[in-house]
Amino acid sequence: MRKQIAEAKRIVVKVGSALVTNNGEGLDHVFIADCAQQISALHDSGREILLVTSGAIAAGMQRLGWRKRPHAMHDLQAAAAVGQLGLAQAYETIFVQHELKAAQVLLTHEDLADRTRYLNARSTLTTLLRLGVVPIINENDTVVTDEIRFGDNDTLAALVANLVEADALVILTDQDGLYNADPRSNPSAKLVFEGRADDRSFEAMAGGAASSISTGGMVTKIRAAQRAAKSGAHTLIANGRVEQALRRVLQGEPLGTFLYASSTPLLARKQWLADHLQFAGTLVLDDGAVSAMRSGKSLLPIGVTKVLGDFERGAVVCCADLRGVELARGLVNYSASEARRIMRHGSNEIESLLGYVSDDELIHRDNLVLI
Ligand code: GLU
Repeated sequence: MRKQIAEAKRIVVKVGSALVTNNGEGLDHVFIADCAQQISALHDSGREILLVTSGAIAAGMQRLGWRKRPHAMHDLQAAAAVGQLGLAQAYETIFVQHELKAAQVLLTHEDLADRTRYLNARSTLTTLLRLGVVPIINENDTVVTDEIRFGDNDTLAALVANLVEADALVILTDQDGLYNADPRSNPSAKLVFEGRADDRSFEAMAGGAASSISTGGMVTKIRAAQRAAKSGAHTLIANGRVEQALRRVLQGEPLGTFLYASSTPLLARKQWLADHLQFAGTLVLDDGAVSAMRSGKSLLPIGVTKVLGDFERGAVVCCADLRGVELARGLVNYSASEARRIMRHGSNEIESLLGYVSDDELIHRDNLVLI
């Protein structure tokens, strides 16, 4: 089973406050340097890494001279806004030393629930990966408070794994993984080596609902694994204090708890589209586009002869041939009115027709499922 994690190419790595900060006071630059060195080595070996990191609040508290973590949400948000600069700077400084390019991405759960913003975030992140840049992601604590209250970015990391269809999610924490009982009160508690991410008994082992309000307990990690599995990503929860933990788990070494997804990313995507049977419109394709699509290519505007219905960017649309036979469904990159303007035209004409270009494709092959 660990082979699957060793073969993962696109990986979301999440590091929580327990690792990035010195007991919540200021940033742990030694850890950040160590983390950057491992990411750099993984990047050099051809892997695509997206880093989801907390630490903004702790860094902000130090900058503001606050010794105690405030309770008021607006104080925590203010601290996060101050600290995010220092957090990004800490990674940027060390990444430069490794000749690695980084980008700052601040997201909210709502961004990922809204289809249009979902597509926008997805194309930015996949473009960054294509450019060899490591996205450094945190929750946008100025406008939302979900992760401050509930998850220390565990949920956000899973949503990012869904968004970019990552092969794996690695959650680094200060514990060795999931135990089958509380190791503090039960000396015979054993580390869970592996299991299915959707195995419901893990939630109870992690402490059940009672601890779900604490920031970043094991429960939010288990739920993150369940969520990541929905798009086919396997999750590994491991102790980030163990030497070279990230590299070692990604080589398949038996560290931490491995929670595997039972379906492949492709099956998961098909399921997702199948769940959205209500499509908002239809694109009628010429024969050339039909055969291109059947051989696994994206749909370009030039191959579309007619646009039926009214839909927004990000909607699920049906693709049919000239006889009206449905052959695929997918997430469309342009609204119905934009699609009408660019259909039958080459992708290089999109900018002159619309005044901007979102994507060269009308539907990218990654967002397309053949029926
Ligand atoms: N996004 C927050 C941060 O970067 C979450 C961590 C927390 O709640 O301490 O600091």
